[in-house]
Amino acid sequence: MKCPVCGDDCVSDAFEIINTMETIFAPCPRCRGRRLDKKVPPPDYTPPSPCTCKKRFIDDIFAHIYRIGVEEGEVVGTEPLKEIGTPLIHPGMVLSEAPYLPPRSLVLLTDLFSQKTAERIVAEIPEVRGVVQDTHITPGIVSPDTMETPKTHILLAGCDVRANIFNTQVGPIVIYKQTSTMHIEFPRPVNPKILAVDRKVFTKKPKTFVDACCGPGTLGIVAARLGVPHIIFNDAWYAAAFWTAYNLKVNHAYLGIDDVEIRESYQAMAENPVRREPYLIATTRGGLAVEVYQGDYSLLTPHIPEKGVLTVIDLFDKASRDMVEEVITRWKADNKGDVFIP
Ligand SMILES: [Zn+2]
Ligand SMILES: [Zn+2]
Repeated sequence: MKCPVCGDDCVSDAFEIINTMETIFAPCPRCRGRRLDKKVPPPDYTPPSPCTCKKRFIDDIFAHIYRIGVEEGEVVGTEPLKEIGTPLIHPGMVLSEAPYLPPRSLVLLTDLFSQKTAERIVAEIPEVRGVVQDTHITPGIVSPDTMETPKTHILLAGCDVRANIFNTQVGPIVIYKQTSTMHIEFPRPVNPKILAVDRKVFTKKPKTFVDACCGPGTLGIVAARLGVPHIIFNDAWYAAAFWTAYNLKVNHAYLGIDDVEIRESYQAMAENPVRREPYLIATTRGGLAVEVYQGDYSLLTPHIPEKGVLTVIDLFDKASRDMVEEVITRWKADNKGDVFIP
């Protein structure tokens, strides 16, 4: 599939990704990874080139990045290896062992490097897919009170689109997003939000599932995977609405979707980064009915059916119990059906 960020074919169908998940990060018999202590600088050795199977152990790749940083004068040489940055592997999944990475399977989130060094890292290290400048904020979170355009990280070089694989009770789903524009999640062996959706869908058997603050679409896609025939997605942030629509395409075979119509390009949507009045950005054809809106979830009421509705409101910051109760009370005043916060 064509990548909306780099235009290359760096995005795969969910079926293809799920089929490779058992072996993608496993070493071949000839792979020789060197485990390094991340709390100290790397030892004085020349990190090896990738194995003939094209994979390389993650610590050797980090040592290679470190070396480029030293050569460019952006790493002094006394920093511990782990200070190079946070490795975000593609596809992200629950791992029991440190990975041997194939080409273009690592996005590096870092605050150490200039654009020039980032470009050199992408050019010289085949496993690196992209380098993202960590601005130490949570990207893409729109406050429902202010509706201000949220802050993001900055893509320095390469492409920062990557996927996570999440398990549901009926099989895995694949969720892509752009690292710099969306908040980072790590797949865990047990995902309480996905379990909460499973439990509610199983007991309430809704006809329509509303994912009111959908992010990249994870919870609504879980509901679709569990067999709910109609899903309404919404998020005020353009990147969230776009990646939701895109992820419906990625997972189409698992969801009974024939076709997803996305009405605007990612770049065109970026012109209106935050919308208040819900704006329809995508629909589907096939066995699953979907509408994806970009807007303020409190204005969704005219788009929601009267009967058989289950709504999830996944607030990023559910700081206080009072706030949660207020959100539920306000939703119930305007909309029919059951609602929960996962
Ligand atoms: Zn790309
Ligand atoms: Zn190998």
